[in-house]
Amino acid sequence: MQYDVIVIGSGPGGYVAAIRCAQLGLKTAIIEKYSTLGGTCLNVGCIPSKALLDSSEHYHNAAHTFKTHGINLDNLGIDFGQMIKRKEEVVNANTSGITYLMKKNKIDVHQGVGSFKDKNTIVVTKEDKSTQELTTKNVIIATGSKPSSLPFIKIDKQRIITSTEALTLKEVPKHLVLIGGGVIGLELGSVYARLGAKVSVIEFMDGIIPTMDKSLGKELQKVLSKLGMEFYLGHKVTGATVQGEEVTVTFDSPKGEKKELKGDYCLVAVGRVAYTDGLGLENIGLTVEERGRKITVDEHLETSVKGVYAIGDVIKGAMLAHKAEDEGTFVAEIIAGQKPHINYNLIPGVVYTWPEVASVGFTEEQLKEKGTKYKTGSFPFKASGRARASGDLDGFVKVLADATTDEILGVHMIGPRAADMIAEAVLAMEYRASAEDVTRTSHAHPTYTEAMREACLAATGNRAIHI
Ligand code: FAD
Repeated sequence: MQYDVIVIGSGPGGYVAAIRCAQLGLKTAIIEKYSTLGGTCLNVGCIPSKALLDSSEHYHNAAHTFKTHGINLDNLGIDFGQMIKRKEEVVNANTSGITYLMKKNKIDVHQGVGSFKDKNTIVVTKEDKSTQELTTKNVIIATGSKPSSLPFIKIDKQRIITSTEALTLKEVPKHLVLIGGGVIGLELGSVYARLGAKVSVIEFMDGIIPTMDKSLGKELQKVLSKLGMEFYLGHKVTGATVQGEEVTVTFDSPKGEKKELKGDYCLVAVGRVAYTDGLGLENIGLTVEERGRKITVDEHLETSVKGVYAIGDVIKGAMLAHKAEDEGTFVAEIIAGQKPHINYNLIPGVVYTWPEVASVGFTEEQLKEKGTKYKTGSFPFKASGRARASGDLDGFVKVLADATTDEILGVHMIGPRAADMIAEAVLAMEYRASAEDVTRTSHAHPTYTEAMREACLAATGNRAIHI
């Protein structure tokens, strides 16, 4: 079988690349080792975690905030089995949607592990070990990532688990010990905290979501503490062991004191590493970076082997579905001879706790380090009419703009629907808008988005109207 392009891996990077290649008239195949398409994101990542976040938030509201709206519920309970079943239905609807899209775009789907025989020949090894050889002009590696662990902790997938198992538990933990205060851990931790689990977070850095603007981590910690989550910041985990149904996690305080926590589950959420096992990269002379095991690519996302490209979690940059998708489109257009563009500084980052956290562009810490002169404008949601109506009063929008030109350099928000609201900031920044430009743009009332306009007003001569 001769193709123009073979894509290995069907996550958001791979399937988007395949569709864009097909749209551009390239004869395309996609290889996926699992029986369902969609990769980490659709099967064990973005989609199932958001399904559980939504279900648990509904429960939490029913239990704690409905009363304030004048809605009384008796005998409120959790059918956790149904919650997990619904999550599976959501996943199935999404993955079968990708199968439909492959058919619609006439993309051949080969199930099995794809590996290089040479740069133009890919061997697909199916579950029954039978093999098929496919030939191609170009290859896009989109094999994604897998959870990483700490070298001294053994993930047994029963009591010491990764995000994958945390999405398919049979019961709500009584005490979940969470190693890592990053995005994935906090999202899943908040799911179980809302459902009644005690959740203890042990984080090595001195703040949670440490890669985002520091003000966001501080506010999020306040909100999650109200939910009952407890935090051990600046603490270093030294071990985790299982005895029967109990997990003991040992860790050192910043002063070196030895501590331990006992729980029924320990979720290890310390990041992800690129996945290249079984690809046969050695057969085409490709090596991976020592740290993070990522594949090196140039500015066209092409590896050192001509005609072999790589995208998504398996290469440098943020490990996010939309970054992988953008690269999927980019690489297809490069192969078709076009001149696409990605602005890596404007890939938004989002945490789907409630309230949500969202961020784009430079943080205050980065601007200080670069020596850029900037001004800030903030607006708290407690001053927003829309937030008052819904009762979502935590959080703020913070805008950072160039002190001289007023160009928006970064937007950092925590608040209701921040995940959707950040799109306005990304678009404004893509077109190099000034804070003043946003203040001159009409925003529907009452909406949460007015907080963005107010923060821009605050950044340009302290003109916010409602504070
Ligand atoms: P993947 O989605 O990892 O897909 C790679 C695919 O390649 C897999 O299906 C794998 O089976 C297949 N594969 C690997 N090797 C081979 C081979 N040799 N042959 C054939 N197939 C192969 N990101 C967001 O942007 N928003 C979120 O809300 C979000 N939530 C997340 C929640 C969780 C719990 C997790 C774990 C991740 C989350 N992410 C989120 C991250 C997101 O899932 C990843 O960034 C994204 O899936 C990366 O896409 P990808 O296409 O690079 O790879």
